[in-house]
Amino acid sequence: MKYRRLGSSGLSVSEIAFGNWITHGAQLDNTTAHACVRAALEAGITTFDTADVYSDTMAEIVLGQALKEVRRESIELCTKVFHPTGSGPNDRGLSRKHIMEACHASLNRLQTDYIDVYYAHRYDATVSLEETFLAFADLVRQGKILYVGISEWTAPQIRQAAALARELRVPLAASQPQYSMLWRVIEGEVVPACEQEGIGQVVWSPLAQGILSGKYKPDHAVPQGSRASTAAGAPFFDKLAGQWLRPEVLVAVAKLATLANEAGLTLPQLAIAWVLQKPQVSAAIIGASKPEQVEENVKAAGIRLDLELMRQIDIILDGLVERDPGKTG
Ligand code: NDP
Repeated sequence: MKYRRLGSSGLSVSEIAFGNWITHGAQLDNTTAHACVRAALEAGITTFDTADVYSDTMAEIVLGQALKEVRRESIELCTKVFHPTGSGPNDRGLSRKHIMEACHASLNRLQTDYIDVYYAHRYDATVSLEETFLAFADLVRQGKILYVGISEWTAPQIRQAAALARELRVPLAASQPQYSMLWRVIEGEVVPACEQEGIGQVVWSPLAQGILSGKYKPDHAVPQGSRASTAAGAPFFDKLAGQWLRPEVLVAVAKLATLANEAGLTLPQLAIAWVLQKPQVSAAIIGASKPEQVEENVKAAGIRLDLELMRQIDIILDGLVERDPGKTG
């Protein structure tokens, strides 16, 4: 494993992080979930990502159990607040009340005294940014969260937050956006804004939920057991990755697999290495339904792709890449 600093903060993160969206508490039984976490730890992954909303709060519980015996100082535990975790009007969003209550609930479920990076999972247009950041500031002073992050915020929202964070002396260190060879909407605005503010990118779905593993073939039904085929995964897959289940994309993906093979890599390794080429990316968060996927994917750490290979990738994906910053969030 290789480690990078999270933006300009002093926190080191593993350049490949492990996330448990859809898998823990839903798609996988707990034995398999724990085996994936063990594989991540054995590969040197120290950064773990979850959210209160994942699997109706079960994902945090499963991760907390899986990491219970691990020395707390040896890992970075990250979670998020915003999406509803109950049916009441205060069970969602970025109000002071919900942030405080959600943070304490996450600490309990994760069986820990502090969260390393606490993310605002989305922007909340119904609450003043000042209220949100004052709540984060208090949690930082109490030692319950060490760094703050935002996820899927636009560049203007990030700039506003960074100004407030500076004023309140809150360490706003991370942005968590979707980023892959196919989805590059952060490149135009979010990355430059964050770079200016010393905020690192911790990117999600580097494999486009498995599209960039090559397992989805043109003119074939989705494979049994894959995320697209499971009750837990299909709704999220359809919403975010379904757009890529088109013959022209899947044919291009097959060409990328050949390119990867020629470079001595598997396609997932190429796809993860690709997002890690950007110095502004602090970490790529991978998901896994099997420990073997973790073992394969972590081999992308430390790989440099030469310019010609990067150019070939762009030629293959010409016309298929989404770059519109308006699609943030
Ligand atoms: P990926 O793009 O890495 O997709 C992971 C899935 O792809 C696996 O669960 C598996 O699905 C398949 N896969 C992985 N490796 C292989 C392989 N080697 N061969 C074949 N199939 C493979 O990431 P995720 O979409 O899971 O997202 C990663 C993390 O990012 C999440 O856990 C979460 O922490 C974070 N995230 C954050 C969001 C946010 O709003 N901030 C939103 C979404 C995710 P299967 O085997 O079931 O097909």
